[in-house]
Amino acid sequence: MEIQKYQTLIDAAKAVRKKSYAPYSKFKVGAALLCNDGEIFVGCNVENASFGLTCCAERNAIFNAIAMGKNKFRAIAVVVNSPQPCTPCGACRQVLNEFNIDDIDIIMVNIRGKTKVEITPLSELLPRSFDAKSL
Ligand SMILES: [Zn+2]
Repeated sequence: MEIQKYQTLIDAAKAVRKKSYAPYSKFKVGAALLCNDGEIFVGCNVENASFGLTCCAERNAIFNAIAMGKNKFRAIAVVVNSPQPCTPCGACRQVLNEFNIDDIDIIMVNIRGKTKVEITPLSELLPRSFDAKSL
């Protein structure tokens, strides 16, 4: 039921995953971010020969949304082809948390074999988070 609610978001993440620039790891990731107003912004991972400059799909989607004037997010779908659905890395969890108002659903999708989908709130992936209230 919840998966159907996010099907458009999942499809957008699947589509943008194909544009991933991952010549080194070959680990392609697509992310689609759902704003409170229903708009969707996408991002894919972008690697670099200087590995530390690589940026994740999730952060690219978030930065894309911010650049378009959006900063209230409801959910993000992350699509990978791996043994298990992937959680966003710690850096992406922290950046998502900056814009966390009523919690954000993380929809983790693995397209290897039969598609698997897991949905977890950000608060579960980043408990006792550091945020503006911590300053
Ligand atoms: Zn990340």
